[in-house]
Amino acid sequence: MEEKVHEKIHWADAKAAQVPSDAPQRVATGITPSGPIHLGNMREVMTGDMIYKALLARGTEAELVYIADDFDPLRKVYPFLSDEYQKYIGWPVSDIPCPCGKHKSYAEHFLKPFLSAIKELDIHPRVIRTSEAYRSGMFTEQIAQALIHAEEIKEILERVSGRKLEEGWTPYYPICGNCGQISRAQILSHDIENHTVTYKCPCGHEGVSDYSKGEGKLVWRVDWPMRWATHGVTVEPFGKDHASPGGSYDTGKLITREIYGYKEPVPVTYEWISLKGKGEMHSSKGVVLTIRDMLDIVPPEVLRFLIAKTKPDKTIAFDPGMGLLRLIDEYDRAERAGNSREFELSKINSPQSTIPFRHMITVVQIARDDEAVFSILERSGYEIIDREAVLDQANRAKIWLERYAPEDAKFAISETLPEVAANEPANVKAAVAAYAAAIKDGEWKADVIHNAVYDAAEAHGVTGKDVFTAVYRAFLGADRGPRLGWFLEALGREETLARLALME
Ligand SMILES: [Zn+2]
Ligand SMILES: [Zn+2]
Repeated sequence: MEEKVHEKIHWADAKAAQVPSDAPQRVATGITPSGPIHLGNMREVMTGDMIYKALLARGTEAELVYIADDFDPLRKVYPFLSDEYQKYIGWPVSDIPCPCGKHKSYAEHFLKPFLSAIKELDIHPRVIRTSEAYRSGMFTEQIAQALIHAEEIKEILERVSGRKLEEGWTPYYPICGNCGQISRAQILSHDIENHTVTYKCPCGHEGVSDYSKGEGKLVWRVDWPMRWATHGVTVEPFGKDHASPGGSYDTGKLITREIYGYKEPVPVTYEWISLKGKGEMHSSKGVVLTIRDMLDIVPPEVLRFLIAKTKPDKTIAFDPGMGLLRLIDEYDRAERAGNSREFELSKINSPQSTIPFRHMITVVQIARDDEAVFSILERSGYEIIDREAVLDQANRAKIWLERYAPEDAKFAISETLPEVAANEPANVKAAVAAYAAAIKDGEWKADVIHNAVYDAAEAHGVTGKDVFTAVYRAFLGADRGPRLGWFLEALGREETLARLALME
């Protein structure tokens, strides 16, 4: 078999090479759906997906799972929540009502849009909801083991993390039958046969918790390695906060080996994504760009490309303004070259628009409606392959202009001849008239229309810049605009000549 030769091995292939290629592999990713799932979290899922695809490319049997940690408690009332949520602090997010009233739970409210967004990104994991796994009894035996070995686990946690745990600490937190919180209740007794514990909650309530029914959960640092063993995870990307010395990966490694007899997954630590000028993205701080916000402006393959071209351990400073246009240009170059691993890992099997995004930005500012978008594109010689894909791209361009574009990328065609154009000096007006005459019968092609400016200017003793400025003023009332030839080509001969005639 012939293998493709790549100059440098891609990070996803390098990770895939760290596991035995002849044994089935399971790549796990997962997030606590406690708030809007933003681009920083997205990196985790895309990182996992690329390693998964790299494993398949090696001929390794592999599965991608997405573990939604929806059994985790709500930590605080986030800025995007009403004060009413105060009473749900400590409750599993799967049991809290959804903020909009349209979803089954608080967790689903954030999970649903995220799961549909990753579909658009061509990521199709098997989704495991931790609340369902706990309540199905899937972890019963593992929780019993954690309770039986509580002292050993405590010793590992204290030794490796350097943190002192309280007297009587156990790795299992019951959901209190009175206050509903997953609290640090004191475990009074353990009945292995009936898989129950008795507990005393800090709220004062004493009760019984059946861990085969999900009436409680393991503390995060034990829960994570327990799930590696139970789900058979062999590769897992996680944020750098878990990777610090003595952190949850370090303690998890020992717990999964010593308590569950399982080897920890190959770690893939990823760095944060920051929004240029706005700092790191953490949903708890309230300033976020959600996946939906991103997919509203960035084509999915370009979002994948951003992750594919950057090693996971490098931070990404994402600039949704002009930086996005440069990123799209870079993707277009990779697409034309067609052979880079970054490109292979980015492309998506759905119809794409073939219109350059920068051109679409001009088009949507000229077009009065969707039909006009198509007629402008046809006038400029573009072949429309998929109307739906073109309209999606047009919408992304409109949203980008609305939310992120710098002022000088925007323009508006004025309804009538602007005052400033009417007041041009006579020799400039004469040059514009000569320009209009030249393009009236010439070929209606962007570069021809563009270059005709220079002859007209020269013939009337003015500079090319004088004519460019005058024509921009005639249409936009501004001294600058999109590249003139391409702009007028898109606008059409008739409309162009009608406006220039007003200057005479
Ligand atoms: Zn909702
Ligand atoms: Zn309680």
